[in-house]
Amino acid sequence: MKNILLLLCLLITTLTIAQQDQRIYDIIDNVSADRIKADIKKLADFGTRHTLSDTVSNTRGIGAARRWIKSEFENISKDCNNCLDVFYQKDLVKKGTNQRIVKDVMVVNVVAIQKGTKYPNRYIIMSGDIDSRVSDPTDYTSDSPGANDNASGMAGAIEAARVLSKYKFENSVIYVGLSGEEQGLFGGQGLAKYAKEKGWEIIGILNNDMIGNITGVDGVIDNRTFRIFSEPVPPTETERQRRSRRFYGGEVDGISRQLARYVHKQTKTYMPEMNPMLVYRLDRFGRGGHHRPFNDAGFPGLRIMEAHENYTQQHQDLRTENGIKYGDTFEHVNFDYAKKLTAVNAITMAGLAWAPPSPKTVGIGGIVEPSAKLKWDKTEGAVGYKIYWRDTTSPIWDNSRTVGDITEFTLKGIVIDNFFFGVSAIGKDGHESVVVFPNQIIR
Ligand SMILES: [Zn+2]
Repeated sequence: MKNILLLLCLLITTLTIAQQDQRIYDIIDNVSADRIKADIKKLADFGTRHTLSDTVSNTRGIGAARRWIKSEFENISKDCNNCLDVFYQKDLVKKGTNQRIVKDVMVVNVVAIQKGTKYPNRYIIMSGDIDSRVSDPTDYTSDSPGANDNASGMAGAIEAARVLSKYKFENSVIYVGLSGEEQGLFGGQGLAKYAKEKGWEIIGILNNDMIGNITGVDGVIDNRTFRIFSEPVPPTETERQRRSRRFYGGEVDGISRQLARYVHKQTKTYMPEMNPMLVYRLDRFGRGGHHRPFNDAGFPGLRIMEAHENYTQQHQDLRTENGIKYGDTFEHVNFDYAKKLTAVNAITMAGLAWAPPSPKTVGIGGIVEPSAKLKWDKTEGAVGYKIYWRDTTSPIWDNSRTVGDITEFTLKGIVIDNFFFGVSAIGKDGHESVVVFPNQIIR
């Protein structure tokens, strides 16, 4: 009996090891708070990075900032045998497009692409923003350090490139600095349009906007919790898809939500000290971020962000009023926390970049039967599949069953009416695709 128990223990340990990849722990360890700190300092020291600010100076304004970001990506590329393709992606935005565009401006994003070895046209993207603002969104000359909003996200994307460029991935990884966020999400719109034109298959965009504040305006100090915002269903869904949801479910199971659950799971698996908080909405109440233009174009995307914001340090003129110091300055950023959230991004991207594609179609059946049946199409590079299910009220995939290289399976005794289901593909190193919610009914 003792021997059997020991054998069982060994077996369980072996299985656990097979499901985790040491390289993911190495990636977490290699993200540097010091380098993120230095980059945030550098970005804040450009004085202002307002989208409409100076582009000629080498020390002040958004022109200097983007040239520096581009040169950083190029330096990283030199260290990995030119593994990054670095370029500006830009669009002219005309004066009066909205009230915040008070003159014609070239909105310029800095893009760095690490091409995948097997699926170069499939992309996982991490974004931060280059631009900053003060109280008046059209004030493009006042000092606007934007240390947390959003030099923190930008520095995170640069640091992720440093760490992940040491590895080879099957899918492509993009690190990008977007501009024009504060003026109306123009940089994201430009890049999403560019991606459509190029026919990119986007696995997802992880938009990082404010990942460095741990002291909330509410007085809470918390360096473990962070938020993952994702919209419930794509705004591009058809009337037919919308109607079908009434009968088959899927109200909280869109592509961006599945990506959010992936971030949650990857964090829980590899960084259990963290407290990821799924927020079931596009963004904060009535507010915006650069994942939205990607969602508008039908791509999965979400926002990663601190849990406790400080509004006296957001979009504020630098000043002291009634004893309160206003402004988004360097000394308020917590670099260890920014490191942790950067690591969350890096391990999500690595996991997805090493994973096979998701099954394209997942069928489900089992109406008036005691068991649920799932059927999916074979995915190139998958060695197996994982079937997930959860209570209809649960936010995350609580139950799962790994199956081999097959394309259908019956979950005996699991009644279709009482759960939601999904299927992912598993690659040879155990990395999994994003879960696919059933998109076909088996009669
Ligand atoms: Zn902002």
